[in-house]
Amino acid sequence: MPSERFILKVIINTPLRKTFDYLPHANINKSQLVPGVRLRVPFGRSRDVTGILLQVSDKSELPHAKLKRVIAILDKTPVFPRQHLRFLLWACQYYHHPVGDVVLGTLPRLVRAGAALELSTLDYWQPVNCPKSDIAKLLKNSPKQRAILDYLSKTGKPVSPEDIGGHFKNWRGPLGQLQKKGLVRKIAQNESLAGTSASPPFELNQEQKQAVKTIITCLDGYHAYLLNGITGSGKTEVYIRCIQEVISKDSQVLILLPEIGLTPQFVEHFKARLGIKVDVLHSGLTDRERLNTWLRAKEGRNSIVLGTRSAIWTPFKRLGLIIVDEEHDPSYKQQEGFRYSARDLALIKAHQTRIPVILGTATPSLESAYNVTLGKYHELHLPQRTGNARLPEILIQDIRGETMQDALSPFLLRIIGENIKKNEQTLLFLNRRGYAPVYMCHECGKMVQCPRCDIRMTYHKSDNQLSCHHCGHQRPLPSQCPECGNRTMIEIGHGTQRLTETLEKFFPESRILRIDRDSTRRKGAMHSMLKDIQEGKVDILIGTQMLAKGHHFPGVTLVGIIDADHGLFSADYRASERMGQIIMQVSGRAGREEKPGKVIIQTHFPEHPLLKTLQAHDYSAFNCLLLKEREEAGLPPYSFQAMVRAEANKLEPVRRFLTEARNQFPHKGHPCEVFGPFVPPIEKRAGKYRMQLLIQACNRVQLGKVLQEWILEIERLPASRKIRWSLDVDPQEMI
Ligand code: ADP
Ligand code: ZN
Repeated sequence: MPSERFILKVIINTPLRKTFDYLPHANINKSQLVPGVRLRVPFGRSRDVTGILLQVSDKSELPHAKLKRVIAILDKTPVFPRQHLRFLLWACQYYHHPVGDVVLGTLPRLVRAGAALELSTLDYWQPVNCPKSDIAKLLKNSPKQRAILDYLSKTGKPVSPEDIGGHFKNWRGPLGQLQKKGLVRKIAQNESLAGTSASPPFELNQEQKQAVKTIITCLDGYHAYLLNGITGSGKTEVYIRCIQEVISKDSQVLILLPEIGLTPQFVEHFKARLGIKVDVLHSGLTDRERLNTWLRAKEGRNSIVLGTRSAIWTPFKRLGLIIVDEEHDPSYKQQEGFRYSARDLALIKAHQTRIPVILGTATPSLESAYNVTLGKYHELHLPQRTGNARLPEILIQDIRGETMQDALSPFLLRIIGENIKKNEQTLLFLNRRGYAPVYMCHECGKMVQCPRCDIRMTYHKSDNQLSCHHCGHQRPLPSQCPECGNRTMIEIGHGTQRLTETLEKFFPESRILRIDRDSTRRKGAMHSMLKDIQEGKVDILIGTQMLAKGHHFPGVTLVGIIDADHGLFSADYRASERMGQIIMQVSGRAGREEKPGKVIIQTHFPEHPLLKTLQAHDYSAFNCLLLKEREEAGLPPYSFQAMVRAEANKLEPVRRFLTEARNQFPHKGHPCEVFGPFVPPIEKRAGKYRMQLLIQACNRVQLGKVLQEWILEIERLPASRKIRWSLDVDPQEMI
């Protein structure tokens, strides 16, 4: 066909669910029009954007004369392998999310901006040999430069920008100064940099051996494994052996973790054990570093990419294995914008690439547990702790009628005291940061609400403020009641700050450390706190769920769960599942080494069957109970859900819009149920009124079809352009 007849279907980053048609520029050679190359195209008024060529067609819905021409083709070859484009399009269809946001939104910023796709050699840094007296003179008034230089000297080998960034904030300026003064120099390292040597492997136990053997004997082809191993059973070692096997065959490995910032130990351990360079994707990277990792993966130049959920969007040349650690963790689901689940996508990617995927956890999600019963996943058990470590004893402590000392029962206080005397560490878990969740007038009972959300504000004593944990709004403490003017305001309930204060009162000699989002805000804070714990500089540590994630605290022998009841009776049907996971994960921190551990769960419902199964360390039984409940209620994983959320400055337009949307629902031939519009537990958030529709089907394919039809209908509603709304497939949160 003559080039004038080519119609290029181009993906552009817009909220619209479609591609855009363009004509090629003059003298184009058809061989240049490979799907996946970037194009520069005019878009809207006087704006050029980067798009991606999806396909070449000979048809357009628009008249030829109306079509604009491509300005330039930016690449000779597609920016990602064909296979990756297929993966992106699958995600786009499954989540019914605009194709531009999926395909372009998941690219590194520099790729999106049209930058040349060249691997820049990373600069590593090392000190220049200088007499000490010269250094002292040059750095007399520059403590930061001094610190960086000391760090570089200490490590004894060239240091990557990534590592410097891990230790220092705003380090580029001072490092530049050091270079100017001739104290450090840059050396270009190519990406095949060898790491430290691997520490000697120990003998695997029987179950570990079996798991590794099962996985590595079929590395060709799709297999989904649920590596169900209690905390401390050596799952990481199983990963490592499988990874070694895969990279020895020159394939690549993708490892997903819930939150890298919270698990530096895991990453360090991994790097040390594997002894080769691990590309870590985290939020602290510069655009250039991110692009480098992306390019290395796609060109097959690295062996391992380790990252959080967005690392699932890395294209690989020879991917051979995917590992999803802590597969149950809710943070694998993105909760805004493109609402994907990296865990679920890992399975799709493995399936499309025909490779194995390992989902590792001590507390399988109900979805995964159910998939095992369906035969979709192969379950591998690691039922015992490695070495001599034993599982902690779990005590369920009935606090009904107890005289509590703030949130602590006399029993728990006594046990903490004994533990301190033994010089052993205690971990107290309370999933509520701040001082008190309620700040109230003692005279009229008025509780201070966030002006932007229909939720009470949390009292933060350390900075003498009230703070909204939903929108971040802060205000100074009112000196009097905004309602009646009375001056006696009281705080009700307990957060981590208050618990810390209480413990300081009871154990004034002890070293107490609080770990939550407030206390770890400063960069590097978490790192140094973990180090203090590790070095035994802490007696009692108090924390939120940040503490539950994958840390190894060898010295902790006592764990206290301050409030287990919250999860037993909640409006969100997932609350019990989350509570069980957190209790098991936190308990798993105790007694990992020689000394046995003890866990005390404070509750008003000591007979609750869910708590009983946890007490018996029988997480499978816990999941069975929950699965039965879900089956009876027809809830996921026995059904499939989607949620349409909408919000606006007033409630009525939201209700009207969702009612109209509901009226458009294509019921015919689709056995789906629609619930709503209803108001979520938090009606107003950040100044917006919110409502939602819940769609439920017993078949995933059915749900997909109906959503596809329906979403086009919704988009045709005039109100859909005035109201902020979104579709969430497989929603994880009901709020
Ligand atoms: P999990 O991830 O299952 O909670 P880890 O992988 O962190 O457990 O393993 C716990 C500890 O046991 C680690 O220090 C690890 O190095 C060690 N370990 C793993 N496998 C073995 C083994 N076969 N023998 C002795 N120690 C082991
Ligand atoms: Zn708020």
